[in-house]
Amino acid sequence: MIKTRILIVGGGISGLSIAYSLVKRGVNDIVIVEKSYLGSGSTGRCASGIRASFTSREHVVLMKHSIELWKKYAEGELGKHGLYYNQGGYVWLASREETAKTMERLVKLHNSLGVPTRIIGLDELKKLVPPIETKGVVSVLFDPTAGKSSPFSTIFAFYNLLRKKGVRIYLHTSVEEILHNNKRVYGAITSKGKIRAETIVVAAGASTRKLLEPLGVRVPLKNLPRHAMLTEAYREAFKPLVIDWDTPGVPYIVQMKSGSFLIARNIDEEPELSLYSQRIDFMPKAVKPLVRFFPWLRNTRIMRYWMGYYITTPDHHPIYGPVKGYENLYIATGFSGHGYMMAPVTGEVIAEWILNGKPSIDAAERLVLERFEKGALIKELAVVG
Ligand SMILES: Cc1cc2nc3c(=O)[nH]c(=O)nc-3n(C[C@H](O)[C@H](O)[C@H](O)COP(=O)(O)OP(=O)(O)OC[C@H]3O[C@@H](n4cnc5c(N)ncnc54)[C@H](O)[C@@H]3O)c2cc1C
Repeated sequence: MIKTRILIVGGGISGLSIAYSLVKRGVNDIVIVEKSYLGSGSTGRCASGIRASFTSREHVVLMKHSIELWKKYAEGELGKHGLYYNQGGYVWLASREETAKTMERLVKLHNSLGVPTRIIGLDELKKLVPPIETKGVVSVLFDPTAGKSSPFSTIFAFYNLLRKKGVRIYLHTSVEEILHNNKRVYGAITSKGKIRAETIVVAAGASTRKLLEPLGVRVPLKNLPRHAMLTEAYREAFKPLVIDWDTPGVPYIVQMKSGSFLIARNIDEEPELSLYSQRIDFMPKAVKPLVRFFPWLRNTRIMRYWMGYYITTPDHHPIYGPVKGYENLYIATGFSGHGYMMAPVTGEVIAEWILNGKPSIDAAERLVLERFEKGALIKELAVVG
């Protein structure tokens, strides 16, 4: 039987980052169990965007910290293994005066928390995004600290480093049951045998709710289908991720390192819909609003299309930290479309909770599962795509 100090269920960006933050603190007796391949959940399907321009204090504070870590990681040992952070910014386009006023309020909030967003004029927008048509744009919020990075390079960097540090990673191994006894968890039954563990972290994305149900833990998560597509590759046209905030479904476009444009927009979908139920009508729905800003998109070819889940909580903030009723069970999920960018800070706060009993960032403490029981929900308006 395998024995470990810490068992992490889920080999997405959250599970890997939590393991890395533990390793940084000298703990390497860790097992990660992934039911398929690393990044096979939402991580490998994400749009790679990273930003601190949110509307809740919690998100802004946590993401400011996360971006500092993204940069530090890119410059350090993870960078040598391929992790990078391309700080090209985010551009939020408003077509309504009301949205322009909201943006002004948001800039004040961001600046008060140390995030240097600002409202920019159309001339500056044109410099940042040369091939854009600006007709009808009434205001632009620019987040210069935001950026992008490849989920695949990041996963490989974490994987290679964690393996070197002695972390055991079991792929194509599914946790079928979490073993518990009174107020403690003590291991798991997997598709390949039993694992004994002193502490368990569940970072299992779309399966988290079902995995925790037998323990009497109710996690209010919905797996909401989202679609994305990639065009053929072009030379670099612009660096920022561009968001059309005033069109329902909030379409956005970002150019990837490969040169392809990733385009996405939220279209109405039933929760839990199978990821094989592909929607061909998504393509015109996502591209048409963006053609207003980028007329040349009419002549691009779509090379790839896929679906993935936003694992969403009722208040669009993640669920972090210890699970009430258990002394040694932790959770990190429900990122509501922001789990890739949050991964570095997720790793830190969960590692601190496990090793020190509390995280060093207060904002994380408000994101525990109990907030739903208490009705202490937090509001986030800037959910994109
Ligand atoms: C189209 C799209 C665009 C997105 N764009 C962005 C973006 O620009 N920026 C951003 O920050 N976020 C984005 N997201 C969200 C982001 O992808 C997720 O929030 C993030 O990847 C969550 O990572 P995770 O590790 O928590 O979950 P996952 O990546 O889902 O990892 C969970 C892992 O657990 C494994 N697992 C599940 N059950 C078990 C079990 N029983 N035993 C063992 N393993 C198990 C799964 O196989 C999976 O690999 C996007 C998502 C989508 C779908």
